[in-house]
Amino acid sequence: MAQYPEALSRLIRELKKLPSIGQRTAERLAFHLLNQPEEEVRLLSESLVELKAKIRPCKECFNFSEGELCAICQDPRRDRSLICVVSHPPELWKLERTNGYHGLYHVLGDLISPVNDVQPEDIHIEELMQRLQGGQVKEVILALDPKVEGEATAMYLARKIKPLGISATRIAQGVPIGRDLEFADELTLSRALQGRVSI
Ligand SMILES: [Zn+2]
Repeated sequence: MAQYPEALSRLIRELKKLPSIGQRTAERLAFHLLNQPEEEVRLLSESLVELKAKIRPCKECFNFSEGELCAICQDPRRDRSLICVVSHPPELWKLERTNGYHGLYHVLGDLISPVNDVQPEDIHIEELMQRLQGGQVKEVILALDPKVEGEATAMYLARKIKPLGISATRIAQGVPIGRDLEFADELTLSRALQGRVSI
């Protein structure tokens, strides 16, 4: 059986490493790219290189950022008395697209999980606690996955936050968040944000 030329095989191998891309999709994408003008393919490859060169975590909230501080942390119109805590940046962007939240965010990077050996010190909790010093923050909204790890993390954070005289709330129950946040529609999320409850 004949093999693809090496450069084509290599691209297919790389594409297959992406989430939800199998052999057939990888082949289809590779053939498609092969048929594109050189300029188009160059733009795509440059954007991939630029992605890793330019995007880094915001030093304040750990959102994706091009500078030291992300656009949200820099925006003077954001309500600095509110911090919404999420586990990963895609969830932040999903909440952002609801257009119903105008506070700040904090990305933990992961959730506490004894099973996967993720301890509180392995995620950005210390940095969150530092942000709560200074008296500007009045409420921390925990938008974490309702499954075991999200629950454990929310409880851990609530115990640390409440003694500071800052209220800890969570978005309305029953809303699929965390990894599943991608599947929650914007209206549902927006309502969940409005209907948050104290922990
Ligand atoms: Zn930021």
